[in-house]
Amino acid sequence: MAVPVKPAINQFPENIELVELHAHLGASVSPTMLWEIAHNQGLKLPTKNFWDFERTVTLYEAKPYEEYLLLHDLTEGIQSSPEALFAAAESAVSGAYRKNNITMLELRFNPILRARGGERDLDHLIVYALQGIERAMLKYPVRVGIILMLDRRFTHHENAAIVKKAIRYRERGVVGIDLAGPVKRTRASESFRPADIADIVSEARSHGLGVTIHTGEVTPAVEIWETIRALSPDRIGHGIRATDDPRLLEYLRDHHIVLETCPTSNLNTGVLKDLTQMRSVYRILKKFGVPFTINTDGPEMQRITLREEFAKLLNNRILSVRDLVRSNDIARQSSFLNGNNIPVKKYFL
Ligand SMILES: [Zn+2]
Repeated sequence: MAVPVKPAINQFPENIELVELHAHLGASVSPTMLWEIAHNQGLKLPTKNFWDFERTVTLYEAKPYEEYLLLHDLTEGIQSSPEALFAAAESAVSGAYRKNNITMLELRFNPILRARGGERDLDHLIVYALQGIERAMLKYPVRVGIILMLDRRFTHHENAAIVKKAIRYRERGVVGIDLAGPVKRTRASESFRPADIADIVSEARSHGLGVTIHTGEVTPAVEIWETIRALSPDRIGHGIRATDDPRLLEYLRDHHIVLETCPTSNLNTGVLKDLTQMRSVYRILKKFGVPFTINTDGPEMQRITLREEFAKLLNNRILSVRDLVRSNDIARQSSFLNGNNIPVKKYFL
């Protein structure tokens, strides 16, 4: 009689459906698909060699943060038409289900950065992305929400335009807004302060949209404080610099503000030096009871799937199976797909 094989103690159960909250559409489409999409539009790429291209759109090697963001410029350029966004969104959702059994997914993108300097109509871009998602949802049982992103480099007027679109498409699959972008590249991004967008973020919230903000990745704990005071986010993208400030950690815990951590991305961009530093970050988050989730930031560009991310944390004794099951539950409960009126925050106390 065959002896039933028990899963190894440090193996994440394969039958648990995963939830990913922090994945950029520009980083969630395979190089093969990007190559096809680019050629189908007749785009001129920086190289005619596919293998060179693959290295150009993935983190083949670690890169400094601002350099890493330049990779996004290329993938965003390729995704800059309604048809391209349709194909990209469809492929990102299908891939998440097939490769990882992700059944709840939030994908984020910035429509203005795909408008070719105002040439493309934002409504066409957003609607085609939503339709690409819908088509993937016909094939696979995944619930998907779109987060529209604002940018540190943008004028208030541009960011307000994105919020307006997020509100317009709320009933059709847009579930939240985010802020991202380089911190140092332009004068506007250098002088950006969270309070600059307080009015439009509050407008988004009043229409039932979730709010997440990239902060505390390369910016210090003090900016996380500023973000919390000015924008009251439901979740924070990365936020690992909070580990420098015990008072902030207590605040995050007490107010149930969820961190969307992206461990491999942090190694790839040098935000975390090594696994020892990563271990220390999670040890502190656990010690203070800060709710956190595990994400890839974009599996294709980061060259890691969410399940591989879990395996890496387990194999390096950074988190246990129990920690990961909990972080996956937190992701499920804090997803903007639940709607903004459900008191989900109480679930994981
Ligand atoms: Zn991100």
